[in-house]
Amino acid sequence: MSDRASSDRVNQLLKSLEGKLDSAAILLGDAISEGYAADATAKGAMPLAVLRPRNTQDVSVILAAANAVGQPIVVQGGRTGLSGASRPEAGEVSLSLERLNGVDAIDKAAQTIIAGAGTPMQIIQQAADHENLYFGVDIGARGTATVGGNIGTNAGGIRVLRYGMYRAQVMGVEAVLADGTIISSLKGLPKDNSGYNLSPLFIGTEGTIGVVTRACLKLHPKPKIERNAFVALPSLAAVQELLARLRVELSGLLSAFELLFPNIYEKTVNYMGIRPPVETGAGMYAMIEIQGQSPDQDNERFEAALAQAIEDGLATDVVLSNSMRESQALWAIRDGINDFLFSNGVLIGFDISVPLGRMQEFLDTVKVPIDAIDPENQTYIFGHMGDGNLHYCMFTDHYEAIAEVIFSGIQKVGGGVSAEHGIGTDKKHYLKYARSEAEIATMRRMKTAFDPNYILNRGRVFEAPASFGGALEQH
Ligand SMILES: Cc1cc2nc3c(=O)[nH]c(=O)nc-3n(C[C@H](O)[C@H](O)[C@H](O)COP(=O)(O)OP(=O)(O)OC[C@H]3O[C@@H](n4cnc5c(N)ncnc54)[C@H](O)[C@@H]3O)c2cc1C
Repeated sequence: MSDRASSDRVNQLLKSLEGKLDSAAILLGDAISEGYAADATAKGAMPLAVLRPRNTQDVSVILAAANAVGQPIVVQGGRTGLSGASRPEAGEVSLSLERLNGVDAIDKAAQTIIAGAGTPMQIIQQAADHENLYFGVDIGARGTATVGGNIGTNAGGIRVLRYGMYRAQVMGVEAVLADGTIISSLKGLPKDNSGYNLSPLFIGTEGTIGVVTRACLKLHPKPKIERNAFVALPSLAAVQELLARLRVELSGLLSAFELLFPNIYEKTVNYMGIRPPVETGAGMYAMIEIQGQSPDQDNERFEAALAQAIEDGLATDVVLSNSMRESQALWAIRDGINDFLFSNGVLIGFDISVPLGRMQEFLDTVKVPIDAIDPENQTYIFGHMGDGNLHYCMFTDHYEAIAEVIFSGIQKVGGGVSAEHGIGTDKKHYLKYARSEAEIATMRRMKTAFDPNYILNRGRVFEAPASFGGALEQH
């Protein structure tokens, strides 16, 4: 579509919204800051307008009007996404949920919280903490990433092992469909088989099915003890054995089990300018955390399990935190990985999931061809071991050839091409390595049923049909 046709259509949309929204709801021209044009990985096109609804009704009015004129909309939360789903494409109008920000209610007895889609994760965590409760998901972008974006991407993070993905926290959502229809399911009932459960449709579908405006989220008892350990181990096999053992021995306590390959551990502590907490030169490293309700017994179990691991040769060095300050210092190393990586220039990050039993096979399969394509590559691997989620990060100029190697390796071992960041625009060509043709065709059928004019996040997850400017031939 030409620039002229795009701007005519936006004018039509703005005209039909006249008098229906407040004055802060529409940003145009110089009032649109650059941030609206980017996600956390790259800059996209400047949106032709930014629409900032105050509430669910506003979202409904906006989508009904956009649908009527066929205006493509990019749905934006905190724009910390890492797959291009919230990064605008040319000709799009941004729908920012930033003003739907706030906690509506906490139900202490049911242990649930209802919040607006634009509420940052950290606000949910703090509101729960204030009531002596706990929110089970935590990610590095907690201060900016929002409830709506977390639902759109089905965010994961560091404690999936214990509390599950974001999906497991969602009791229900209020959402607006592409034609403006509002559906609301905020009763927070753990049991409700009254027909289809529509809320899961919006989880992990990256804003392509509808726009979440509010959500009812599950909370958990606040742990009375949280303690972590940094562990040096001889090999990946030892990491896997220790994980399997701790899952049994610390059942109900284990809350995180993070993996760090030796080079990323050494470079990160070096970058941070701190003394390495455990010996360098080991085969592999892990950061392990427990959360529990019985401090004395939980400490005893944790210490005994780690002592046994050393005695059995599964671990070669262990440092246990003895205070909240020490615990935070160990977590800082895990969080410092991103700072080290981002300080080194343009990074390519593959966020993949691999069946635990086939992780070594996957790593062996891809290493030789990657080294052949780019002998100079610098590869750093870390991840959420408890979930089989590797962040396979590289500095290389050969993205496409290496992506083929990684994703066909993933296909071979039955893994996922996106463990937690989503597909967006950046990985849609690789979806076929993880999903069958029938599965992708079914996703398209869902999209067409909910958004026949492809106005919402067009071209994310998979191509739009050619009639909507996409590359997909229609049969
Ligand atoms: C430093 C850093 C660390 C990170 N760590 C993790 C991590 O550990 N685990 C993890 O999973 N991710 C992580 N991420 C990725 C990112 O933070 C998550 O994907 C997060 O869930 C995105 O939230 P957001 O509000 O920024 O969403 P956005 O980037 O604005 O949007 C993400 C997707 O959700 C859609 N969306 C946004 N709002 C809505 C809505 N109201 N209704 C429907 N769809 C909507 C968008 O259209 C888009 O498809 C990290 C990112 C950074 C920068």
